Amino acid sequence: MRLDKKVALITGAGSGIGKETALLFAKEGAKVIVNDVNEVAGKQTVAEIIQHGGEALFIQANVTNESDVKKMVDEALISYEKIDVLFNNAGISGIGVLHEIDLEDWKNVINVNINGIFLVSKYVIPHMIKQQSGSIINMSSCIAEIGLANRASYAATKGAVLSLTKSMQVDYAKDKIRVNALMPGTIFTPFVEDYLSKDANPDAAIQSIKSRQLGGDLGKPIDVAYAALYLASDESKFMMGSPFMIDGGVVNG
Ligand code: NAD
Repeated sequence: MRLDKKVALITGAGSGIGKETALLFAKEGAKVIVNDVNEVAGKQTVAEIIQHGGEALFIQANVTNESDVKKMVDEALISYEKIDVLFNNAGISGIGVLHEIDLEDWKNVINVNINGIFLVSKYVIPHMIKQQSGSIINMSSCIAEIGLANRASYAATKGAVLSLTKSMQVDYAKDKIRVNALMPGTIFTPFVEDYLSKDANPDAAIQSIKSRQLGGDLGKPIDVAYAALYLASDESKFMMGSPFMIDGGVVNG
């Protein structure tokens, strides 16, 4: 199995891409620490992993809350003694053109999508330095490179994730920690359902997304989970600070 003996912490693993990745990592032999702010959703992911014969533990934490994050990392280490893989996946959407975004909404998107990665990494990295190994996967988006309408706050955070990833990689290469970024295109998850539901014409919006894909359709969470599996495993040992695009060939951004 590709993640035999590895321990993986996945944030926001109660839904969508995080959940699918948790299920795949467990299938590939990892012990999975399933984090989510949503207790019901996170426990459901763990129940599904256990039902399929895997090993997992749910730890509820809001990735923007420092004491939650500290407790989560402590609890993970007490249970599994190490963290080999950190998937900074938790994120929220932000909608709107810049001058119409409320300051509170702007700050909220930055808080979850950037401060969350900062905080969880801050508490996990010292343990990876001690063990002189680790793979960190930061969730960016193809929007970091391709302009999309109405997504100013979200795009700003995902571009920042890419810069942060490269900088982290340079800083921690000497500690044998790899840091890479995932850049998915539009993947059909509750996150996308939510922002489509806020669109004045959801059917037209989904058709417009599909028309930008060379493959003609949205991606599925498993498409991203396979990429995360590669970055988590030692197979990707030569990938360092890389932006990894899984976007169905998005064009006309
Ligand atoms: P999702 O909404 O299905 O799942 C996100 C999960 O994160 C939810 O379970 C939610 O409860 C959790 N979460 C939110 N805020 C949290 C917090 N503060 N602390 C802990 N958990 C929190 O979303 P998804 O589509 O699976 O997206 C996952 C990641 O992938 C996000 O970072 C998103 O920006 C990114 N992404 C998604 C797409 C897409 O098209 N779906 C494309 C590119 C990037």
